[in-house]
Amino acid sequence: MKKDKRKPTTTDGGIPVASEEFSLTVGPDGPILLQDHYLMEQMANFNREMIPDRQPHAKGSGAFGYFEVTKDVSAYTKAAVFQPGTKTEVLARFSTVAGESGSPDTWRDVRGFALKFYTTEGNYDMVGNNTPVFFVRDPMKFQHFIHSQKRRADNGLRDNDMQWDFWTLSPESAHQVTILMSDRGVPRSYRHMNGYSSHTYMWVNAKGERYWVKYHFKTNQGIDILTQEEADRIAGFDADYHRRDLSEAIKRGDYPSWTMQAQIMPFNEAKTYRFNPFDLTKVWPHGDYPVHEVGQLTLNRNPSDFQAEIEQAAFEPNNLVPGIGPSPDKMLLARLVSYADAHRARLGVNYKQIPVNRPKVPVHSYSKGGAMRMDKVSDPVYAPNSKGGYKADSGRYPEVAIWSASGEFIRAAYTKRKDDDDFGQPGTLVRKVMNDAQRDLLVSNVVVHLKNGVSEPVLQRAIEYWCNIDKEVGDRIAKGVKGT
Ligand code: NDP
Repeated sequence: MKKDKRKPTTTDGGIPVASEEFSLTVGPDGPILLQDHYLMEQMANFNREMIPDRQPHAKGSGAFGYFEVTKDVSAYTKAAVFQPGTKTEVLARFSTVAGESGSPDTWRDVRGFALKFYTTEGNYDMVGNNTPVFFVRDPMKFQHFIHSQKRRADNGLRDNDMQWDFWTLSPESAHQVTILMSDRGVPRSYRHMNGYSSHTYMWVNAKGERYWVKYHFKTNQGIDILTQEEADRIAGFDADYHRRDLSEAIKRGDYPSWTMQAQIMPFNEAKTYRFNPFDLTKVWPHGDYPVHEVGQLTLNRNPSDFQAEIEQAAFEPNNLVPGIGPSPDKMLLARLVSYADAHRARLGVNYKQIPVNRPKVPVHSYSKGGAMRMDKVSDPVYAPNSKGGYKADSGRYPEVAIWSASGEFIRAAYTKRKDDDDFGQPGTLVRKVMNDAQRDLLVSNVVVHLKNGVSEPVLQRAIEYWCNIDKEVGDRIAKGVKGT
């Protein structure tokens, strides 16, 4: 008999098994024996295969690649990852926001654009979106916002009335809602959209000088979109349209790439700029702060185990390396805490030891114990110690002051500046950036959305909201919705 060269099946404990076809029974027709621990292992593992969805950004896809610095921005940051010529391995994950893990990729939604740079100074993560702004500017409203985009408590249904109720009572959402309802609200693929840091970050150069930055990752494939009709049709036959596109493009060697650009604001200008530059609902106009090229992001490797490498990937904006820091953007400050907390809840306290999240540099941490710990710890397990343990080097890695502030502990909105209105920038987008065809798409997208379950008084507020953004567009929406 010809010898079968395949490796023998084993249990998870590595013990060879006799069959993966038959349970252990009393004779061929008898009951299954309780001691069939191999069958038990198969059933028990299957029952535990799924881990909780991310809340939000559950449906996504990702790939590996590299980031290569093409221009010299060393005058602004000392971060090793952005020094001239540096090439760094990267993991990217793209996602929708509100849908669950099996939901259609082509539903109208903002797309997540998350990057993990495996740098020589530890992991650096950017957790951005395909839009440069966000719906709210205070993290107290974030949970309410996401609830309003997901499902009702009573019938478990998504509800446009709930979405517009929240948006129209939160006028700071107008900029992001305008982009969401525009042609860019459904990208043709993950390859055909830009990514933005959205938040402002701080860069620090070798002299300790500080700058404010916003990142733009411009798609080298060109912006391309799906109309609402195309998106609806695709959702019916391929819920994984964008996941499939990314995977197949990389498989055939058509590697997607993006040009990273940075807008750079001198530190002190933030104090006097005409609007709060840390407000997440605003962009910095290019006329005030032009973009500087930094480098190229290329994705050239698909995951080989989607669950291990993409579902378990944990991006967190608190992963900031020397030379890069946060800004006093309230949304960012909250995200520095909430992302890591989400990962601990979903993946367990030792999630940074999962290979995809593991830094490519040695870890010298005093953390110990916890479920699923992989790395051994050694004594001493406390600091300060006189036993040769790790010691923070504040000379080489000083804490850089982000900003200065004083005042009583209160709950309040940002101090208002001259141009801190909610409708100005979306109005500019509608009137000055969009062409006639894009404005037509915006109006029809909003009309379709409003006609799908939005009732009074929310409907009337939605029309007023659009009139505040642009009177002409608002009137056209009113006409489309009410037929007046
Ligand atoms: P610019 O004319 O210099 O920039 C306009 C920007 O709008 C471009 O970056 C373009 O991106 C982007 N854009 C084009 N169509 C759409 C759309 N349908 N939805 C979203 N973005 C779109 O003007 P300003 O910098 O003065 O900004 C004017 C308005 O443009 C802003 O109020 C904002 O709404 C929007 N915008 C501005 C950005 C910024 O960082 N300044 C970034 C993105 C949008 P691309 O080059 O890829 O075509």
